[in-house]
Amino acid sequence: MTRAAPRTRHPVPVTHTRHRTARLAAATASAVLACTLLAASPGAQAAAADCFDREKEPYTSKVDSHLHFRPFGGKPIPWEEMLGYLQKSGVEYANVYGIGQTLPYDSSCTYYLDCPGTPVTPSMRNDFANAASYAADPPPDDVHLTMSMTFPDLAHPEGVLDRMELLDENYPGLFRWMGEVNVIKQALLPNGHEAAGEKAIDGWAPFMRELRERDIPLTLHSDLGNNADPTKYLHLMEHVLERYPENKIVWAHAGLSKELTEIGPDEHLGILGRLLDKYPKLTLDISWRVLWDEYFSDPEIRGRYVDFLDRHPTRVIPGTDFVASDDKDFAVYEEELEVTSRINRDLSDEAFRGIALGGNYFRLTGLEEKAPPICESGQRP
Ligand SMILES: [Zn+2]
Repeated sequence: MTRAAPRTRHPVPVTHTRHRTARLAAATASAVLACTLLAASPGAQAAAADCFDREKEPYTSKVDSHLHFRPFGGKPIPWEEMLGYLQKSGVEYANVYGIGQTLPYDSSCTYYLDCPGTPVTPSMRNDFANAASYAADPPPDDVHLTMSMTFPDLAHPEGVLDRMELLDENYPGLFRWMGEVNVIKQALLPNGHEAAGEKAIDGWAPFMRELRERDIPLTLHSDLGNNADPTKYLHLMEHVLERYPENKIVWAHAGLSKELTEIGPDEHLGILGRLLDKYPKLTLDISWRVLWDEYFSDPEIRGRYVDFLDRHPTRVIPGTDFVASDDKDFAVYEEELEVTSRINRDLSDEAFRGIALGGNYFRLTGLEEKAPPICESGQRP
């Protein structure tokens, strides 16, 4: 097999070790400090380059914390091609989500919405496939990947801890995130998805303890509600937060969905603000273009959300929610990144640094990188 540039292979977990080693080397050899860091990690590279100039540099996020490398069914975009998409679009850090819910292996369906009635069931298949790809082709130096466990069936949590161990036996230490996993995803209900009720949530305790001990964040898809009843499922998310306040929990899409396109900013932001205040370990994921299409694209609504993000600059992470099925190409990824990043243009420097440049993501993942400071132009509002 050939590749563009020769690269040394490392045992897993590669990137972390490589960064740390690079830093030690830099500390003892100041003459090569800049070079070593430049070669070692994208975050350090940015830090070495003075400051980030918002007037000249792109507003698209450097982090894609919500990226499905595998589809629900059918063929994925090849791993190396997907890594190329990240490089081409300036995304330096990404979470590698599988997608836990898979269509039957012999189904011709690639997207669940096209096949109501076909069961979509949580499976370990995609997590193993992603881990095997990572092991065979570790990411290049300018892309940092955080591997994520997407297999858990939150309505039936009994086997989760055992399956975490199984992944660990095969890929020790590789998985540093869990999610996106579904508490309630209404779009999947016609495909047999079962919501996790309060009793099931109580049954998460063993694996939630493990996640806390290993400092692993958990991204939950938990629909807030729908247009007929905008807060129909809020009690489930609240139950999770009450029950596990010490876990790092990320609320995917801030609870929004195609089923909930009409909640007013007062009501939605009121709920989010209250929960962020009450639960310091809660983070909001503002991935998915639905948020732009249904909410942020309206200037008045956008203004309300921008105010909110500026008031919570450390509590939000960005993402595309791109699903890498092989009927898509780079243009689709590029567009989803651009659309989901548009909100960044209006953010304060502090929020931009935390969200778009990765400050919040680095803290959540325990990465040592720092987002670069924003250049002072004196022209920004
Ligand atoms: Zn997703």
